Amino acid sequence: MRHERQAKALRILGLSVAIGLGVILTACSSAPAATSAPISVTVPPTIDASPTALPPTAMVVAPTATTAPTEAAITPTLGAADMPACTSPAALTPAQTEGPYYKANSPERTSLIEPGMGDTKLIVTGYVLTTDCQPIAKALLDFWQADDQGAYDNAGYRLRGHLFTDETGRYTLETILPGEYPGRTEHIHVKVQPPHGAILTTQLYFPGVAANDRDSIFDPALLADVQDTAEGQVATFNFVVNTP
Ligand code: FE
Repeated sequence: MRHERQAKALRILGLSVAIGLGVILTACSSAPAATSAPISVTVPPTIDASPTALPPTAMVVAPTATTAPTEAAITPTLGAADMPACTSPAALTPAQTEGPYYKANSPERTSLIEPGMGDTKLIVTGYVLTTDCQPIAKALLDFWQADDQGAYDNAGYRLRGHLFTDETGRYTLETILPGEYPGRTEHIHVKVQPPHGAILTTQLYFPGVAANDRDSIFDPALLADVQDTAEGQVATFNFVVNTP
């Protein structure tokens, strides 16, 4: 009996040891699970990878965002059809003599037409540009010219006036085609001054005028592009000036 009890005790002890070992082994086998924790620690690199993937996305967006305003700034203001033909660096508009008939302090106006000036209406339009082909807003243009008989008004300001380019750098003057006078072909005098810039004094000419060849200061670089439109003759000329 005693032996049986001892044997049973030993079996129980053996069983306990086995269970103990099992627990230890289980604990040990779960240890790898604990060591597999570093594997789950390797997940953060995945998170690290996604932030790495984000900047390129942000960079793709950024250039799109920066180019958009540039296009938006040009497209609505000028429009593809109205963009002045200009290749950078553009040649400066040649200067010409002021002549004897300039008068300061002309009135600001966009039309020089007054009653009794005849029906030789002319629209002079274009841009004032930098040598980089950038339009210049608020540039001053001061025009003076002879009437259709070739006479200047030196007492008052008939056919004299100044205006400014708009935000797109464009100007438009309504006037009449000037007449010729001895020694001079048809021409319009103008002073152009960008904001805070130097004054360019020059003259505009018209194509197809026989007297151009007989005018000693005529310069073909100052020929306007004249088109017949429903609104009358439109002379286009873009001035290229130095800027401060
Ligand atoms: Fe003149």
